[in-house]
Amino acid sequence: MNRNRRADWRRVKGKLSYTIDEAARALGTHRNTVRHWVKKAGLPAMTETRPHLILGGNLVAFLQAKRASRKQKCGPGELYCLRCRASRRPVPGLLEYRPLTRTRGRLVGICSTCEAILHRFVSTRRLTAVAAEFNLQIGDHHESLADSALPALNCDSSTPAEK
Ligand SMILES: [Zn+2]
Repeated sequence: MNRNRRADWRRVKGKLSYTIDEAARALGTHRNTVRHWVKKAGLPAMTETRPHLILGGNLVAFLQAKRASRKQKCGPGELYCLRCRASRRPVPGLLEYRPLTRTRGRLVGICSTCEAILHRFVSTRRLTAVAAEFNLQIGDHHESLADSALPALNCDSSTPAEK
C-alpha cells in the first residue's frame, strides 16, 4: 500500500507538459501535493500560463532529487514524516530529545501536517547543532534529569565529620 502511494516519476513522460491536475493523476498523488511542490519546494512550473504547466522533464528531475535528498536528510528544522512521506516541520514546543545511548538519541516530534509521530536519530556530537536548528532546550532537560537522578550523593549527612 505504501508503494502505491509513492510518487513514481517513471509514470511521467519527460517530453510532455502537465497541468497540476494531470501531474497529480500521473503520479497517483494529490493535486495539493503537486501544488505545494511548485509553490514551496522549488518544482519549476510555467506560471505565466493558465493553468500552470510543468514540464515532464522538470518533474522527473524534481522527484529524483527529492528522493535522493530524502535518503540523506531533511531541510533545516524538518523531520521526515513517514505518513506524509515528506519532510515536515514538527509542531513547535512538542519536540523532545530522548537519549538512547551515550552517543545517540532520538528527536521525537509531531508532524505539523498530519500529526503523526516524527523522529530522527541524532548523534550526541551533533546534538548542539540540532538543538539550535530546532530551537530545542536540551541543556535544561539534562540539568533537571541530573538533579533528580542524583538525589543525596553530596549530602552533608554522609560526610564524615573528621577534622
Ligand atoms: Zn505528516
